[in-house]
Amino acid sequence: MPTETFEFQVEARQLLQMMIHSIYSNKDVFLRELVSNASDALDKLRLEALRDDSLGADVSDLHIAIETDRQARTLTVRDNGIGMSHDEVVQLIGTIANSGTAKFLRELKEAEENAAADGLIGQFGVGFYSSFMVADEVTLLTRRAGESRGTRWTSSGEGTYTIETVDSAPQGTSVTLHLKPEDTDDQLHDYVSPWKIREIVKRYSDFITWPVRMVPEAAAGADGEEGADDAPREPETLNSMKALWARSRDEVTDDEYHELYKHISHDWSAPLETIRLQAEGTFEYQALLFIPSHAPQDLFMQGYQRGIQLYVKRVFIMDDCEALMPPYLRFVKGVVDAQDLSLNVSREILQQDRQIQLMHRRLAKKVLSTVKDMMSAEPDRYATFWREFGRVLKEGLLSDFENREAILGVSSFATTHDKDEPTTLRQYVERMKDGQEHIFYLTGESRQAIENSPHMEAFRAKGVEVLLLTDPVDEVWVEAEPEFDGKKLRSVAKGEVDLGTEEEKKEAATEREGRQQEYADLLGWMTDRLSDTVKEVRLSSRLTVSPACIVSDTHDVTPALENMYRAMGQEIPQVKRILELNPEHPLVSGLNRAHAERGETDGTGLQETAELLHDLALLAEGGELGDPSRFVRLMADRLERTL
Ligand code: ADP
Repeated sequence: MPTETFEFQVEARQLLQMMIHSIYSNKDVFLRELVSNASDALDKLRLEALRDDSLGADVSDLHIAIETDRQARTLTVRDNGIGMSHDEVVQLIGTIANSGTAKFLRELKEAEENAAADGLIGQFGVGFYSSFMVADEVTLLTRRAGESRGTRWTSSGEGTYTIETVDSAPQGTSVTLHLKPEDTDDQLHDYVSPWKIREIVKRYSDFITWPVRMVPEAAAGADGEEGADDAPREPETLNSMKALWARSRDEVTDDEYHELYKHISHDWSAPLETIRLQAEGTFEYQALLFIPSHAPQDLFMQGYQRGIQLYVKRVFIMDDCEALMPPYLRFVKGVVDAQDLSLNVSREILQQDRQIQLMHRRLAKKVLSTVKDMMSAEPDRYATFWREFGRVLKEGLLSDFENREAILGVSSFATTHDKDEPTTLRQYVERMKDGQEHIFYLTGESRQAIENSPHMEAFRAKGVEVLLLTDPVDEVWVEAEPEFDGKKLRSVAKGEVDLGTEEEKKEAATEREGRQQEYADLLGWMTDRLSDTVKEVRLSSRLTVSPACIVSDTHDVTPALENMYRAMGQEIPQVKRILELNPEHPLVSGLNRAHAERGETDGTGLQETAELLHDLALLAEGGELGDPSRFVRLMADRLERTL
């Protein structure tokens, strides 16, 4: 068979370069990655054999074998699992499918310090390629279950690899590393030593549900020349294969949990939190869930895989079991092992199953209550959680009605109270002023834009705290007017504003009544003249400095949300807003006087001033003018008259 030579895809080449030059200091983990791949391959074969009797694969002794050869300085990790076809080898081993990788590589390049690179690479499982940390040549021989011929892949990691079809190959995959020359100063990297292999497997892969066997060196060779006088030795099983989720808490160390997490998540850093759940009774199951310590790059991309693995009575059934976790908790990784499901269960069946739905609810609640505990017991850890996952968790405010208050309870928001630290709603409520009925917020593009918005003026003047919501998802969930602790969340840019103690409110009401009479004509006239753009012009109690601002009616859709709906292609009618005037501002009081004196005889001058007032208010909140060139013309004209 001819040998074909291929080039690695650009990103793959970059990543390999980094592996060869060993940016990651803990090289032992390459073995974890190979064993993890082998274990996945065995899982896949068992499933496929279960679903397809005609596969013709041998599933009688599924296992992983590790062989070393001190003379040749090779280490081989072998499995008799699913294997790969020729095309799969090219596709899976020659390219990097993960879309976040390019970004990761850029960041990695910028981190020149090894220490920083360690941290970064910890955020990315590089899997098979990590072999090149310890090997200067890697050969992979594989045969896909059900196929008759195999494929041999070889590379030194330097730009190209070769592929060859071979007539006979054992079922599954073997990866042979030709180890780099031994570093005499560094005995730790002696990967042909049985005790070293035993130690690494124990440390990283003990929980793997398939036997990981070490084949004694003499027995591994075909001819058995060396060590022939020794009694024949049996392969040694290195791992205990105990499912961690089925063991009691005090039998398992944190490190063991973390290694399981790394196996499931392909993340190289430890999880932020480990959650255990044992459900007894008619529907028995165990769950071991993890909250990662950082958000994956592709969390918001379409097709992001949820990381819950489903097992049935210790047998792996499927990855990415979306029926078990709501989408807004898609960052949670882990294992759920159910006792009473069929091994043949399909995704479609799971979606319908009532028990699974109950499990889904229970797991979601458990995650939320864990975050809640973290919030009170470990504020720093919670802060990390929120920074990484807050944005996605808030999606739950839209979709999980049942847990809405619980989600609000574990949420944090930027606030006018503190310019660095976000606040929880509980803390906000504790700081609420006498007579304050609502929890106030304002949405917008950035903290700066919101803080300087005219809507904030009265709140600032009265020292009333406002939450500053800048995530796009915030525009959407606030629309449902959620409540926390019996208090409604209220936008400062919506409805009427009534601040202060009962007494102050009464005073303000009397004053407003007087003003109202004074301005009634102007307001009526402006409402009429601006009726194409606004539904009402009224006096404001939220302004102290600006002449005017635009607000929405209490239950109306905000302009930002309107734009969002349009961007998604939804037809929605234009929602007219309300123009509010500040009677304390000389421009407004002047306009009132001018209107009273010459309202009927003025021609277009006052009308234009009214329009300008509206446009200025729109600009101040960061809105877009309907007719910018007209605005500029009117403005220039007026400025000219001031010269
Ligand atoms: P990851 O395991 O993170 O997906 P790898 O680079 O380690 O990334 O492997 C890429 C893919 O190659 C795997 O997802 C799997 O499909 C395939 N693969 C790797 N090792 C094996 C193996 N021993 N048997 C079968 N397929 C494998």
